[in-house]
Amino acid sequence: MSLNYKLLTPGPLTTTSTVKEAMLVDHCTWDEDYKIITQHIRKHLLQLAKVPEEDYTTVLMQGSGSFCVESVLSSVIGDQDKVLICANGAYGSRMVQMAKRYNIPHVVYQLAENEVPQASRIRELLSEDPTINALAMVHSETTSGILNPLEEISEVVKENKLLFILDAMSSFGGISIPVAEYQIDFLVSSANKCIQGVPGFGFIICNRKALEASKGKARTVSLDLYEQFEAMDVDGKWRFTSPTHTVLAFEQALNELDEEGGINARYQRYKENNDTLREKMAEIGFQSFIGEEQGPFITSFYYPNHPKFEFTHFYEFLKANGYAIYPGKISDIDCFRIGNIGEIYVEDMIQVVELIKTYMEDL
Ligand SMILES: *Cc1c(COP(=O)(O)O)cnc(C)c1O
Repeated sequence: MSLNYKLLTPGPLTTTSTVKEAMLVDHCTWDEDYKIITQHIRKHLLQLAKVPEEDYTTVLMQGSGSFCVESVLSSVIGDQDKVLICANGAYGSRMVQMAKRYNIPHVVYQLAENEVPQASRIRELLSEDPTINALAMVHSETTSGILNPLEEISEVVKENKLLFILDAMSSFGGISIPVAEYQIDFLVSSANKCIQGVPGFGFIICNRKALEASKGKARTVSLDLYEQFEAMDVDGKWRFTSPTHTVLAFEQALNELDEEGGINARYQRYKENNDTLREKMAEIGFQSFIGEEQGPFITSFYYPNHPKFEFTHFYEFLKANGYAIYPGKISDIDCFRIGNIGEIYVEDMIQVVELIKTYMEDL
């Protein structure tokens, strides 16, 4: 069995050996050293988001990314509020599912998976229902790889003074996001995406005023965002058991992001990976599902027009040769996805396309 393959999947992803080595310690959770690490991480994330500590704070939350999205939705949208959810993929739909489950007042702006939300349509929806006071959107919809137009949507948010929730799971750390300028109140992301840590927790960059205003609105105990903040803010001690190994790995991953040159340098690497991948795939006849709005993190490709093509077989071939890719997630169209984030370089992109070329020639 070959365990030595790289992940071309956008989380978990391939991490550096130094990030993995940081986990070779069993750390206790109640002493000063550990609490200081938590506080450093919280500060470090604010620096990455370029927001001042007086106005923003970071809350770390156990679980995968969805737990953090669920924490925010179930904690900050009260029964008297109403959130407009933009849905152009599985992660947008998951937010809708959460809103339904908790009976959170909401309106859905449903789009196709290759369409981005339009500011003009959001303005219409807001004028049709003036009780809407919040907007939730995914930034990089990992379902397809599409990048939603954050700047345009933020204009509508500002005009209407909406509470703004952004699922920046597969984008934060890999692309610059002007959190304060775009008036994002709750930005959600996780340890195992563009920061290149391992799975186990996520984080929420919160506007302090909006967080304060949410006090008492939470519908669950474990995912109560305000209570998590209140406990953690005392001295960095997590409310319930913290994922210690993951936290140590994450601290290392944040330092490595700085060493790489920060978010802009990482963006350049991801962009070059993605451009190379799409260009080389096009050369061997593969078409990507998203056009102009393609983001720099993950790409959906249509299945090739070959009667013998079968995904599982294709997947096993690539994995045996060193790369794990992702099955498609587009509802009605046969696609597969290739992620290009993590400890992945242009050479990997060239290599995987070479393998795909060989596979197709031998099919
Ligand atoms: C990864 C991801 C999530 C969270 O998924 P989990 O499987 O819960 O970690 C949420 N939204 C987006 C856009 C993602 O890419």
